[in-house]
Amino acid sequence: MTGTQTFTFTGWDTGGWSPYAPVMAKLYFRYGAVGSAKTLNLLAVAHQYERQGKRVLVLKPAFDTRFSAVEIVSRAGLKRSADRVLAEGEVPSAHIAAEADCVLVDEAQFLTEAQVEALREWTRALGVPVICYGLRSDFRSRLFEGSRRLLELADSIEEIKTTCAWCNRKATLNLKFVDGVASLEGPSRQLGAEERYQAVCYRHYHEQLAAGTTPEALTDGEASVATGGTRV
Ligand SMILES: [Zn+2]
Repeated sequence: MTGTQTFTFTGWDTGGWSPYAPVMAKLYFRYGAVGSAKTLNLLAVAHQYERQGKRVLVLKPAFDTRFSAVEIVSRAGLKRSADRVLAEGEVPSAHIAAEADCVLVDEAQFLTEAQVEALREWTRALGVPVICYGLRSDFRSRLFEGSRRLLELADSIEEIKTTCAWCNRKATLNLKFVDGVASLEGPSRQLGAEERYQAVCYRHYHEQLAAGTTPEALTDGEASVATGGTRV
C-alpha cells in the first residue's frame, strides 16, 4: 500500500439531516393525453386534503390563459383558483410552500426546467410532496420541456389513461386539427381552443395525419417546442 492516509473521525456526515429536519417527500408526475381528466384528478386530490383540514398550494404556469389567468378548470366543469401563477421564467421561492401539506401543479408541461428543479428541491428541503399534472408530449409527439424534466426527476411517474377518439385503444398522443384537418403545422406555444385537439392512439395519429398532410412530416426531425395548448 503506497502513501499514507489518515482518517480523523469528526462525526457522521449527515448531509444536513437532523432528527428535526423534514423527511424528503416525493415528486410525482401524472401525465396523460388531452381529456384524460388530469385536472379533475388534481381538484379531487385538493378536495381530499382540504376535507382533512390540510393545506394545499395549487400552482400553474402563467402560459395557460385559455379560461382565465388564475382559474384551474376541468372539462367536467369543476374549477378553483390557483393559489399562485408562476410567471414564465420565474423560479418559485420555497417560502411560498412552507405552510403547505401538498403542492399541486396544473398544466405542468408548461413548466421550465428550472421550475421543475425548484419543485424537486422543495420535496427535499421542505418535505412537502409535489404532484404535477400535465401532457407528456405535444401535437408533434415531442416531449414538452417541463414533462421531460419531470420524467427525469420524478420519484413516481403515473399515467392517467383515456381512450382514442376513434377507437378503444389507449390514447398516447395528441392530435391537432386546423379547420378539421389533422396538422403538424402551427406556431410554437400556440394556445388552442379545446376542440382543436384530440387524444389518439398511434394508428389514428398516423392515419389522420396521412390524410391531411405528407407522411414525411411525421419524421422530419424538426425540433418542436410547440405546445398542444390543450385542456389537461
Ligand atoms: Zn385509435
